[in-house]
Amino acid sequence: MKKKLWIGALVALMSSSILVGAAIADDYAVGPPNSGYKPDNGDHTYCWNSTFADSQNAKDASQYAMNNLDGQTTMFDTFISSGCTSVTDARFIKTTEPGDGYHQCLGFNSAGECETAHVAINFGNMTSWADWKQTACHEVGHSVGLTHGNYDCMDTDETKQQYSDHHVYHVNNDR
Ligand SMILES: [Zn+2]
Repeated sequence: MKKKLWIGALVALMSSSILVGAAIADDYAVGPPNSGYKPDNGDHTYCWNSTFADSQNAKDASQYAMNNLDGQTTMFDTFISSGCTSVTDARFIKTTEPGDGYHQCLGFNSAGECETAHVAINFGNMTSWADWKQTACHEVGHSVGLTHGNYDCMDTDETKQQYSDHHVYHVNNDR
């Protein structure tokens, strides 16, 4: 999901959520354009393609997001130092497509859970370390099934760099 292309949908979500506040139930793992898919297990493996690995800032942003997933949820992260494969859960790549980044599932298991996905970040579209961290948190969030919302990094606000309790609940209980 290219975040800034979906502002209309986000505004619609926000206006409906005002009525019920932070306890609003949002969809979990329903797929694009605003959501991702369930991960295949709790071990979220990740890797960098060669272009991504050329940049320390890119590596730092990805590691921030994976450490945050590990710290905030019952999932854990495993770095695949030997490189990306067809079963690596989060395959970090750079993109120049419009928007700050996107997540795309590339393969599913027989249960319909995502086996492997691109987590793409458009570093050239952003100017701050905060924005890179928020975008990495956001796209990794899609890779574990989260949907856009306005309480955490699943928003477009770069000051929100973690997952809300509601989204942590989804990851821990609904996958
Ligand atoms: Zn998104």
